[in-house]
Amino acid sequence: MGKFTAEQISELNNSLKTPDQVLKWTMENLHPKVALASSFGAEDMVLIDMLMKINDKARIFTLDTGRLNQETYNVMDEIKDKYNANIEVMFPDTREVEEMVRVNGMNLFYKSAENRKLCCGIRKVHPLNKMLTTLDGWITGLRSDQTENRSNTARLEIDEQHNSMIKVSPIIDWRWEQVWDYIKSNDIPYNKLHDQGYPSIGCEPCTRAIKPGEDLRAGRWWWERTSDKECGLHMDHGSN
Ligand code: SF4
Repeated sequence: MGKFTAEQISELNNSLKTPDQVLKWTMENLHPKVALASSFGAEDMVLIDMLMKINDKARIFTLDTGRLNQETYNVMDEIKDKYNANIEVMFPDTREVEEMVRVNGMNLFYKSAENRKLCCGIRKVHPLNKMLTTLDGWITGLRSDQTENRSNTARLEIDEQHNSMIKVSPIIDWRWEQVWDYIKSNDIPYNKLHDQGYPSIGCEPCTRAIKPGEDLRAGRWWWERTSDKECGLHMDHGSN
């Protein structure tokens, strides 16, 4: 049972109009049992900057799958240096990874969708769930135009998938251009993969640059044909 009723969340969605208002409410009501789940993509940079201006003790965590790009580690350190932020890095369970690659190989994700989901489950979903069990709320950089699945997401939701905690998506209604306007006008660090045509940041072997005009998530698991390419972090609405 969560801390807030569906009616309260609905009222808050009506009264909190801007990302800043949403984050201030979140910090006042849920800190320190709330944290931003960051993959260090452009949306997360915006939220980190907003959060640090509200409270520099705001919690940020990330899932280090062991397969990230060097550019992602670089921006992680830039954020740490700029804001003196304490980034909580979650790693997968060593034994689960060892068993998975022993049976299926290092590049199992290319062989089948089942293998890909197994890898995302062990490297992302299990560490995420472990972290979320310690919190009352989590903050995400979801935007509704990322996938069809995310089009119904509200700024504040009761996350039935995760023990009815509060899921906070402050920039859910922002467009990609708004994200970049914020990054540029506030002169904040960003993942340099974006300069190479990557709109979406994920694991190195599973993410690639997109061509002009392609869907923003076309570079994720590009060898799969399904339109619903999620990794299980946001099952009801959409992933990072
Ligand atoms: S994105 Fe690829 S490497 Fe990363 S956890 Fe999922 S399948 Fe594994």
